[in-house]
Amino acid sequence: MTSHETEGVQVEEARTLAGDPDGFQRLWTPHRMVYIEGAEKPATPAEPDCPFCRAPGRSDEDGLIVHRGELAYVVLNLFPYSPGHLLICPYRHVADYTDATDAEVVEIAALSRTAMNVIRIVSGPAGFNLGLNQGAVAGAGITAHLHQHVVPRWLGDSNFLPIVAQTKALPQLLGETRLRLATAWRSLLGERDTSLDKD
Ligand SMILES: [Zn+2]
Repeated sequence: MTSHETEGVQVEEARTLAGDPDGFQRLWTPHRMVYIEGAEKPATPAEPDCPFCRAPGRSDEDGLIVHRGELAYVVLNLFPYSPGHLLICPYRHVADYTDATDAEVVEIAALSRTAMNVIRIVSGPAGFNLGLNQGAVAGAGITAHLHQHVVPRWLGDSNFLPIVAQTKALPQLLGETRLRLATAWRSLLGERDTSLDKD
């Protein structure tokens, strides 16, 4: 994929979206264009610059939010390890797992469990990676705001990704992924579509 192929695609600064940049090499890298053009992590960990603090203030579509809970929310990772890579974030700007309240810990765990169920309904992965990266040395891209990764995995998934990348621009792909996951989440919980209720 060359840079000119991203012309005509509206890109947003990566720092304004909820994501977790990392140092891994990928075979499939169109989303890196957003990062490259965007394209820096917040200069300071202050809340106004924190993408995980800003995401809930956006619409579900713009913020790539899959589900909003009471104390935490679920968002697509802008820098996915695999398709459907979700992040579970408390609304509060806390960095460390030990800073989370008991109620936040419980809700993050419950949302992680539901996320697995939802992803299984949508895309039937062979397995998952779940986890928290605490501190830059451990691989956290946004160290200031706690986020739990839920990463679906397939056998040979690193070979599957370039095929997808050649068929669609990433913003569309992320938007479609968000819609499928959000719809499945509501269906699983028996919720009606509340997106029309919001101001
Ligand atoms: Zn934050």
